[in-house]
Amino acid sequence: MNYYVLSLFPEMIEAGMKTSITGRAIEQGIINLYSINIRDYSKRKHNQVDDYPYGGGAGMVMQAEPICLACEDIRNRIGRSPRIVYMTPQGRVFNQNIAKELAKEEELVLLCGHYEGIDERVIEKEVTDCISIGDYVLTGGELPAMVVMDAVSRMVPGVLTNEDSGADESFEGDLLEYPQYTRPQEYEGMSVPEILLSGHHANIEKWRREQSLLRTAKWRPDLLEKAELSKKDIEFLKKTLAE
Ligand code: SAM
Repeated sequence: MNYYVLSLFPEMIEAGMKTSITGRAIEQGIINLYSINIRDYSKRKHNQVDDYPYGGGAGMVMQAEPICLACEDIRNRIGRSPRIVYMTPQGRVFNQNIAKELAKEEELVLLCGHYEGIDERVIEKEVTDCISIGDYVLTGGELPAMVVMDAVSRMVPGVLTNEDSGADESFEGDLLEYPQYTRPQEYEGMSVPEILLSGHHANIEKWRREQSLLRTAKWRPDLLEKAELSKKDIEFLKKTLAE
């Protein structure tokens, strides 16, 4: 996976991505990160990239030209037209399914806005996807771009050391993950559930499935409506929630 991030603060992207699991994947060449400073494509004095909004109003708007030139440069470098994702609170709200969909791409361009956002003509000319990370407004698209890259990278083969570790996680099958415990067995009077110490794999699997169903019912009932549930799951939920 090759990420091209267009930003006014590329150092923020570098610092965020070159740590922990994504950092290791970058070092190993499983993912490549190109953080591109949009200012490098400005033709104005002091590399300015923003201007006042037509029609008046507060704030500044990022101009179309430097962003379009940066996109053109990426196309020339890679020899094709990649998906260009504009991070915006107005976009499709990001989720695990979108992460899976984006992980199939060989290249992704992530465009980070700032100030009041970008000139609409960039969206018309360049952008293939608009993605939001939630219904709130941040100061810039850098954190959203990192959220997307982190979630997408986990789906890229080889990024997670244990290939299975993504399989059971929350949102797989529209359920939340079961509770996890590690040592010590006793912590401030709270014990690890006995079943997890039993070594009986089938019973542990059953317990985890049930916990996952209960947790989803309690914390994210909206997900449960979409989840594929077996007859056994439904019976378990009906019985337990009625108690
Ligand atoms: N004026 C814009 C609006 O009302 O829709 C908001 C601009 S915001 C202050 C500046 C930049 O932050 C946006 O261009 C976008 O790149 C990014 N941003 C802010 N909130 C975001 C969110 N929830 N998801 C994705 N990107 C976001």
